Amino acid sequence: MNEELKALAAQFPPDKPLYAVGGCVRDELLGREVYDIDLTSACLQEQAESFALKAGMRVSLGSKRLGTVIIKGKSSYEYTPFRVDSYPAGSGVHKPAQVRFTQDIQEDARRRDFTVNALYRNVSTGETVDLLGGVEDLKNRLLRAVDDPMRVLGEDGLRIMRLYRFVSTLGFDAEEETERAACAKSPLLNDIAPERIRVELDKLLEGEHVGKALRGLVKCGAMQVILPEFCENTGVKQNPAYHRYDVDEHIIKTVEFAPARVRLAALLHDIGKGRCVKEDGNMYRHAEVGAQMAEEIMTRLRYPKAEIKRTVRLVALHMTDMRGDMRECKLRRFIADNADIVDDLTDLIIADAKATCDNADIDKCLRIKRLRDKMAQEGVPFSVGELAVNGRDVAEFGYSGEQVGRVLKELFALTLTGEKKNDRKALLAVLEKRNNHD
Ligand code: ATP
Ligand code: MG
Repeated sequence: MNEELKALAAQFPPDKPLYAVGGCVRDELLGREVYDIDLTSACLQEQAESFALKAGMRVSLGSKRLGTVIIKGKSSYEYTPFRVDSYPAGSGVHKPAQVRFTQDIQEDARRRDFTVNALYRNVSTGETVDLLGGVEDLKNRLLRAVDDPMRVLGEDGLRIMRLYRFVSTLGFDAEEETERAACAKSPLLNDIAPERIRVELDKLLEGEHVGKALRGLVKCGAMQVILPEFCENTGVKQNPAYHRYDVDEHIIKTVEFAPARVRLAALLHDIGKGRCVKEDGNMYRHAEVGAQMAEEIMTRLRYPKAEIKRTVRLVALHMTDMRGDMRECKLRRFIADNADIVDDLTDLIIADAKATCDNADIDKCLRIKRLRDKMAQEGVPFSVGELAVNGRDVAEFGYSGEQVGRVLKELFALTLTGEKKNDRKALLAVLEKRNNHD
């Protein structure tokens, strides 16, 4: 534990010691990097606040209802007193209806989700307090509900998302009874705010064991609630001449092969295949249909607009130059139009290829990126704004209004293909010549 935390802990009375709790204790025991430290003890909000001030730290009060205090020193910590949460029966909403503070650490442990998240570390002594067998479960790499799993997962539907988020980041298995409860309670995810689901989904997608987690979501029925469109692809067959897997498994494999930055695009890239097969009897329109579905899904899950736009473009464009035979001048235009996503698109195309068959031609997947690098080396402009001449230059030759834009576009096309260098003199000469012809 760091020095400022020890100084803070020294302010707490010996019979009500300060503990670090939850993810930070779990991750430290696993030898993983610790991001943020949550604190707790039997002391109430106001007491914790005064101890923090005495220790020379800054505080801001969080929720009065939950008793939280944000304590700031060199790092920032979230303090919550031991408490018991009660939830309205059978609703599954994330927010507890009633909160009661308690002196009993055992009660606090039982309001948490999984035993590996109910581990405490006494900040002063460094002792680990394990009331529910969390250390044993860490060893066995198991995610087990802190109490009757039907109660734990039935109280707060978000815990099902958290379960598979930890499957993804830690690679642990859901313990059998806990998994069974996740299956029984997955409809409760309907009661969870979409932005909360999005936050968990994003964290899940970043995990090293993301494939295992996605298969878990499908198996317990949560996928059907949060992303029913994915389930339209279950068991949908693909041409065995190219594909090793049905669409659903191919999508999951693509996500596994993709770097974190493009995993959501990977999850959505073929989402339209099942629907296309149903409606058209083939998959020709799947990128276009998939892009439309991706937009609906991401809007529903309240993703930021810019992220929706970028991801939808990746889905729409993931089949670009599939066979590696697109004419170079056309591909140059494509690159100029999409320079901002060429790297992401390449990563998606590579992941897609790897998830299709074992001997994917990665070299072919790199064609777009390679041509982009070549264009950059040639000094080719990627937009009209990067041309060595501007609208004023064009106007000097007697063009006005819309004509100026049209002429600039023509010049841009000439430089893009390498036919003309992006050089002021060369472009003025083109204008000169063009003028003589007009
Ligand atoms: P990380 O910080 O790596 O995202 P974490 O386990 O620390 O993971 P937090 O959201 O920081 O998760 O929550 C801290 C602790 O609070 C958890 O370890 C868990 O004990 C408890 N907790 C958080 N969310 C819930 C929940 N929905 N239901 C029950 N307990 C929860
Ligand atoms: Mg945490």
